Amino acid sequence: MLYKIPKSFINELLINTNIVELISSKINIIKKGKNYYSICPFHNEKTPSFSISFEKQFYYCFGCHVHGNAIDFLINYEKINFIESIKELSFFSGMKIPKKNIYFKKYFKEENLYNVLNKISLTYQKNIYKEKNKIAIKYLQKRGINKKSIKIFSIGYSNNIKIISKNYIKKNKKFINNLIKSGILYNEKNNIKNRFTERIMFPIKNLKGNINGFGARTILNKIPKYLNSPETKIFKKTENLYGLFEVYKYNKKIKRLLIVEGYFDVITLFQNKIKYAISILGTSINIYIIKKLFNICNTLIYCYDGDNAGKIASWKTLEISLPYINDEKILKFIFLPKGEDPDSIIKKEGIKKFKNRIKNAIPMSTLLFKKLLKKNDLSNPEKKTKFSRIAISMIEKIPGKIIKFFLKKILGNKLGILEINELNPNKIKNKFKISHKKKNKKILI
Ligand SMILES: [Zn+2]
Repeated sequence: MLYKIPKSFINELLINTNIVELISSKINIIKKGKNYYSICPFHNEKTPSFSISFEKQFYYCFGCHVHGNAIDFLINYEKINFIESIKELSFFSGMKIPKKNIYFKKYFKEENLYNVLNKISLTYQKNIYKEKNKIAIKYLQKRGINKKSIKIFSIGYSNNIKIISKNYIKKNKKFINNLIKSGILYNEKNNIKNRFTERIMFPIKNLKGNINGFGARTILNKIPKYLNSPETKIFKKTENLYGLFEVYKYNKKIKRLLIVEGYFDVITLFQNKIKYAISILGTSINIYIIKKLFNICNTLIYCYDGDNAGKIASWKTLEISLPYINDEKILKFIFLPKGEDPDSIIKKEGIKKFKNRIKNAIPMSTLLFKKLLKKNDLSNPEKKTKFSRIAISMIEKIPGKIIKFFLKKILGNKLGILEINELNPNKIKNKFKISHKKKNKKILI
């Protein structure tokens, strides 16, 4: 995208920006000699190794080696995209963005959709407190959602207007068009209809707090129970996450994330001071989300619902996470009793017990061997071989050298092997040397 924007504008923007001023408006910096230093905002540390050079208009961290110019800083620090970064920097430096550029056009179009969704969300939020909609507030109370959460999560209510009047459409053509584009309305046989009626509306926000789409829960037992916004230019069910904006807002540093399945789970956890829960939309975990979450923090704890689908989702999560587990990353799982989700179990047994569930979450390594051993018993060499082949091919996917070493060690113990040479899926049948002499214990990887 970079090359499509006039290079001259970006150059001019960078010339007009003082990176020291920009970064110091976000974090505390101190001058030492020619350069400026700070505690690195991108990794955990106690002594400052994040340096900013006025001369080079460049930042560099001696600890985690992040580096870049003012645009890169905004992208990484604010978690925004390139265009948003240009926009913020232009504002900061008092420069006007060339609107004629096609990429800016696309961006402004997207911004229109955000405006429309933010506006409609405000209407939904007001609806909650209207006398005629008291069924909505009653429902939320019954689910244990307090007023503070309603505000923090911008929860709203879509009333029962099914068809938009021709007169209203005539008067608000542009707005209606954008409501269609953002999935709030749809056209059915020339009638403009409301997609969401008599539903509790959960806005799904991006990291800036703008609304990408909605999750909507019926309060009248309509089918489906939950209805999401359709895929739009700014809403992708497989990419957007519920609650992430609030996690960023209420945590100075995100040490871990608890990944759950439902909106009510996130909010109930939040009300119980667990402010690091997010929800995927449906159980559609995928590589994009896993990479995104591991970029945010090192520890991910998955807590799917206590049903068969939840068990399958946990295993799928483990399998597709393996290529992203370096030695800093920790992956854990919580398995809930049958029929329970975080919201229901917290209501049943209290938050203290749930905190224990978090504390005792099962590490990836335990789940890996438990599941594989359940499928393959080790009663004879053939079965052991099959088990080893599957286990090794999975372990080999992990880039973290230390965790890989220990997993191989556990594997050796399970197989009753003390000396393992070149654990390689292709060579395993020939290369396994079994020795019971402790003196010769040697593990090579
Ligand atoms: Zn750093």
